[in-house]
Amino acid sequence: MTLIIGLTGGIASGKTTVANLFQEHFSIDIVDADIIARQVVEVGTPGLSAVIEHFGEDILQDDGQLNRSALRERIFADPIEKQWLNATLHPLINQQMAEQLQLVTSPYGLLVVPLLIENQLQSMVDRVLVVDVDEQTQISRTMARDKVNEQQARAILAAQATRAERLAMADDVIKNGAKNRQLLPQITELHQKYLAMSGTNR
Ligand code: ATP
Repeated sequence: MTLIIGLTGGIASGKTTVANLFQEHFSIDIVDADIIARQVVEVGTPGLSAVIEHFGEDILQDDGQLNRSALRERIFADPIEKQWLNATLHPLINQQMAEQLQLVTSPYGLLVVPLLIENQLQSMVDRVLVVDVDEQTQISRTMARDKVNEQQARAILAAQATRAERLAMADDVIKNGAKNRQLLPQITELHQKYLAMSGTNR
């Protein structure tokens, strides 16, 4: 069994940045939960059929693709609808993640899951790697990247696990706050450690 590292962190913590560095510098295979979450509702999938059956054709764009912002609105103020959507799509997403992890050929694989802690997916991975960042940095990066105001950025943060909750679950931590921009040395060190753990210390 290939060693699988679960890479997680709050919004705009730097998960994608970190995963790209593992891939570019060390050719580590990445499985990305966000990409899979989009794949399971692509046109023609059982996931999209279930969503249409539940919410009606109004949930589609004119081109037949899922209207994500319409879906977000439908579940935003309605916990029951949100629960239905999660109960429907999470098993499909988890199955796809497991299938793609089977295809990893690098000495270890990275599973990037923003809500690893929130959705209790620790059992899918051998170790949890948290990209840690202070809240203020998270808020300013979210505002800059997503063009949202501070209040909106804070609301997104409030809906996620706290920094302390995430750190409590971490086996390894990458510091990516405004004062810790040296990502590559931290990643290189972890890469060596994971190689040693995977039994392919080369
Ligand atoms: P999300 O899950 O919210 O999509 P993420 O955790 O994958 O985000 P990234 O997209 O990697 O985070 O980074 C968020 C933003 O912060 C990006 O605009 C990225 O360029 C910037 N960023 C990340 N790390 C650093 C850093 N060390 N120095 C400066 N900017 C950074």
